[in-house]
Amino acid sequence: MSQRVEKAVEMLKNTGVRMTPQRHAILEYLLETMSHPTADEIYKALEGKFPNMSVATVYNNLRVFKEAGLVRELTYGDASSRFDANTAEEHYHIICSECGDIRDFHYPYLHHIEKDASKAAGFKVTGHRMEIYGICPECQSKQSH
Ligand SMILES: [Zn+2]
Ligand SMILES: [Zn+2]
Repeated sequence: MSQRVEKAVEMLKNTGVRMTPQRHAILEYLLETMSHPTADEIYKALEGKFPNMSVATVYNNLRVFKEAGLVRELTYGDASSRFDANTAEEHYHIICSECGDIRDFHYPYLHHIEKDASKAAGFKVTGHRMEIYGICPECQSKQSH
């Protein structure tokens, strides 16, 4: 078990969340993957190990993790949400328009945009989300062959 998983488990226990093997597996999967999976992808990755688990179980656990601040939900209109367990560092996302892959993209947090937006619109700004779109290296090489 990695240190990140251990820390997250400890944090959940401190907030009174009971640990079950399924909950632990979902948490571990989320923390170890860098792919920002949907609930369905998590379900498919773990159903072999937990044949009795349902997609609803995955959703319920994701909600618990979200409330504890362990994951961030990225909503996409009608498409299913993706879940990001990298809440420790501010980062942006770069998304492949061919395969839908979402990857972390590290760039200094754009505080000044929030200040400018607040000034321009009179809002009390709480945050922002920026996404870069393009074609990932894997899809690029598929296209050129
Ligand atoms: Zn791609
Ligand atoms: Zn991310």
